[in-house]
Amino acid sequence: NRRIVLAARPQGAPVPQDFRLEEQAMPAPAEGQVLLRTLYLSLDPYMRGRMNEGSTYAEPLALGEVMVGGTVSRVAASRHPDFREGELVLGASGWQEYSLSDGEGLMVLGELAQPSHALGVMGMPGFTAWHGLLNIGQPKPGETVMVGAASGAVGAVVGQIARLKGARVVGIAGGADKCRYVVEELGFDACIDRYDPQFAAKLAIACPDGIDVYFESVGGAVFDAVLPLLNENARVPVCGFISHYNDKAAASGPDRLPALMAALLYKRIRVQGFIILDHYAEGYAQFLREMGGWVAEGKVKLREDVVDGLEAAPAGLIGLLEGKNFGKAVVRVAQ
Ligand code: NDP
Repeated sequence: NRRIVLAARPQGAPVPQDFRLEEQAMPAPAEGQVLLRTLYLSLDPYMRGRMNEGSTYAEPLALGEVMVGGTVSRVAASRHPDFREGELVLGASGWQEYSLSDGEGLMVLGELAQPSHALGVMGMPGFTAWHGLLNIGQPKPGETVMVGAASGAVGAVVGQIARLKGARVVGIAGGADKCRYVVEELGFDACIDRYDPQFAAKLAIACPDGIDVYFESVGGAVFDAVLPLLNENARVPVCGFISHYNDKAAASGPDRLPALMAALLYKRIRVQGFIILDHYAEGYAQFLREMGGWVAEGKVKLREDVVDGLEAAPAGLIGLLEGKNFGKAVVRVAQ
């Protein structure tokens, strides 16, 4: 049984040496436990935060601890009354091929045509998009919705839902290929390349009526370009700020807080952060029903960026933080 642990705390961007592949004896389930074989491991930006020393909204990983992660697994052996051998389950086994569970937090999936969807459009990232956009962003028909990392797991779903709600949707993505995909395949009204030297100017041209909802997951230069375009009474669900996850220290320079506060105040902008873990009890079942319908009808789709083998996970996470993934990042650990 192979697993990947946190070997060192990254200094800035993570490097392969921050991870260590270990070989372990195969665990055996005790009474009340199941043995899970990981099929798919989700790679998500929050994993970078868990590698740091300080706690954020969750406790940091200890050195030597198995990297955390959402997983789709098959029950390899069961000594638990609620789970049968061979069943597919959604859980959080982390970066390892086999794991034990007492059943807490495990969800039986049934047989799915594409089990990895439970980690993407029909899972945590899809739920994040659905909750953040509909409950916080509250787009109205005809309004302009802006979303960064628009070809990624959360952003792609945000934009497609916003379109379904009748909004005009502008995306931001890294590179011409991603932007073309976002417009042609996902149906956004426009998508601007964040690497374009004229990025801020082109963003403004793409939003002739300003921005009513900005789904924030990027921060940095993207936020700077968006802020002047926000309309009165704009809503800004704060989902993440990935451009800063590898920062080593706070940036020096002029104090920009007063100008930010002035913009928020004068334009009556509502900014609200959210952590999706808080919303499962109240909203997950409704999300699954609604999104299940949209996916079945082909109204919402999400491209996947699948890499093979547990040993590919570190490079996958490093790449995610550099924008190398094109779609939801997933590791196929076993067939
Ligand atoms: P994605 O699939 O969108 O992958 C990350 C993308 O972020 C990259 O492909 C890249 O897209 C973009 N990116 C990476 N580095 C930078 C950078 N320096 N500047 C600008 N963009 C960058 O990831 P997810 O959809 O899984 O996550 C998106 C966001 O949502 C993250 O901020 C994440 O932390 C957050 N999140 C928050 C949750 C919550 O509960 N609040 C839950 C789940 C996710 P490109 O190159 O195309 O710009």
